[in-house]
Amino acid sequence: MPPAPPRPVAGLHHVTAISGPPQENVDFYAGLLGQRLVKRTVNFDDPGTYHLYYGDAAGTPGTILTFFPVIGAAPGREGAGQALAYAYRAPRGTGFDAWAERLEGLAEGPLAERFGDRVLSLRDAHGQRLELVEAETTGAALEGFHSVTLWLRDPEPTARLLVDVFGYEPAGHAQAPGEERLRFVARGGGIGGIVDLLRRDNAPAAQQGKGTIHHVAFRAEDAGHQMALREALRAAGQQVTPPIDRQYFNAIYTREPGGVLFEVATDPPGFAVDEAPDALGNALQLPAQHEHLRTRLEAHLPPLKVPA
Ligand code: ZN
Repeated sequence: MPPAPPRPVAGLHHVTAISGPPQENVDFYAGLLGQRLVKRTVNFDDPGTYHLYYGDAAGTPGTILTFFPVIGAAPGREGAGQALAYAYRAPRGTGFDAWAERLEGLAEGPLAERFGDRVLSLRDAHGQRLELVEAETTGAALEGFHSVTLWLRDPEPTARLLVDVFGYEPAGHAQAPGEERLRFVARGGGIGGIVDLLRRDNAPAAQQGKGTIHHVAFRAEDAGHQMALREALRAAGQQVTPPIDRQYFNAIYTREPGGVLFEVATDPPGFAVDEAPDALGNALQLPAQHEHLRTRLEAHLPPLKVPA
């Protein structure tokens, strides 16, 4: 008898992308978009490079966008086999108008409508595509992720994984000349609960680089939930890494059938594990295995000025 399916995931945990120089990245996300820098650490697999985390004030899963700022990185190319864009939730109505006005110079084309909501597409300081989508928010700020769009040659196997393993439900289908978009919503019901699968005719192959998304992480409630999801992924024919300690969560990784790198990250322990909640992001934090490099890293990494 096959094992019982794991509990459905609540949505996105974080999205990680590759940017250019870190200060420009900080100015864009902490300055222009008003996100909080909730962690400044290094790429644990390449500690000479920063790993910067942005989110809401507490660093809540579903609001977290992270970057590897690689100075001198070659630009990537958009195409099939890649997470194309992340979308933030922007306040509906006049709040959205205000954001659209503020970001007008960065907009890619006119405002669009997607499944009934207005969408503003733009690019960040290093060419990464992002979107603002109208949503029910509590204030004037961007409140976490609305969705992520995966560009795939064939959405079907990815859709099956989202539904069968992660517990997503089909929630819409939109067709335009030369493309189709399939929407899936997490049954776990959290922020960042939407995944859109995009298929376009004659799609070029994606290439990783500056201005592209490196991976998309989904939420596991805890280590047990993560293990159940890992078993279900393996039962679905996926190769999956063992859990890796990322200090703020444990992570497993799998390359989904469409070519996008998926991660499943645990909600605990979170970003207050190594600094006080009111001091998140203020100082360079290093995991124990890299602490001996601190003096060298602090001399090597460019200083960062976080906008007030
Ligand atoms: Zn990750």
